[in-house]
Amino acid sequence: MLTRLAPSPTGALHLGNARTFLINWLMARQNGWKIVLRIEDIDGPRIKTSADQLAIDDLHWLGIDWDEGPIYQTARAGLYREALDRLIAAGVAYPCVCSRKEIELAASAPHAEDGAAVYPGTCRGKFASIDEAQAISGKPPAIRFNAGEQTVDFTDAFAGRQRFETAALGDFVIAKADATPAYQLAVVVDDAAMGVTHVVRGDDLLDSTPRQILLYRALGLEAMIPTYYHLPLVIGADGRRLAKRHGDTRLATYRAAGVSADRLRAVIARWIGVDAGETISMAELLAAFRLDNVSRDKIVWSLSAERRG
Ligand code: GLU
Repeated sequence: MLTRLAPSPTGALHLGNARTFLINWLMARQNGWKIVLRIEDIDGPRIKTSADQLAIDDLHWLGIDWDEGPIYQTARAGLYREALDRLIAAGVAYPCVCSRKEIELAASAPHAEDGAAVYPGTCRGKFASIDEAQAISGKPPAIRFNAGEQTVDFTDAFAGRQRFETAALGDFVIAKADATPAYQLAVVVDDAAMGVTHVVRGDDLLDSTPRQILLYRALGLEAMIPTYYHLPLVIGADGRRLAKRHGDTRLATYRAAGVSADRLRAVIARWIGVDAGETISMAELLAAFRLDNVSRDKIVWSLSAERRG
């Protein structure tokens, strides 16, 4: 049994990320799953120099360790390419030359819950090959997966039964126009190749899961689909996911201010159903943590509440 910690080095870890990683680590150590650290650094423009090392330092400081890695996605381009070629050859992926603006403007495009326009399928079946798409449009195409019109059901081990209509998700990007693989493809290729059996992550990725299940199936990897646990996120008082606008909750900032890991863990412990007092060690947390005590509701963080706490 294997799980993964998969930080994207797009910035420093904040309390919300730290909480998810801590739950993932506690579940792994309680259940005897091995842990691989995978640095998800393929999202070119958003990746920040040294953010990988900072994430590693933050995780170590918090008391989180792993058995394998770090493994960097940028070193695995060949694997993603191979999977992409297989999907194109199988006729389930196609080149797309639409700009974001064109998709937004497509009159019939409904919007997904996160506000992103659902791709209306403009380029589906339009080009015979990638080369043809490029020759006609004069620009390199992205590659989309044809999600079709079907229902994807799965049971999330934390969030319960889920049901998604693929028509409402739309055909999604699996490789960008600059030829880098997109998150959905890289994560499936890696989880399958590494033999990941348990995925623990924020529920902002819940609607990525049906897409990923479709990719497992299309790649003939259905037997490798992991057990998923999607956890509610920490949000600010405005209802939006914890971020810079809610104040500086970066682990590195607390660390630099001399806050101890035992103290910070006690803050996070209250958000994962553990009554911790002022400080808590990793060993105490490991003994006290129960997944069943983690709230199904989002955690609301506010600076004033934390000052009182
Ligand atoms: N790297 C992703 C993130 O930081 C996590 C991906 C996943 O867990 O599937 O949001």
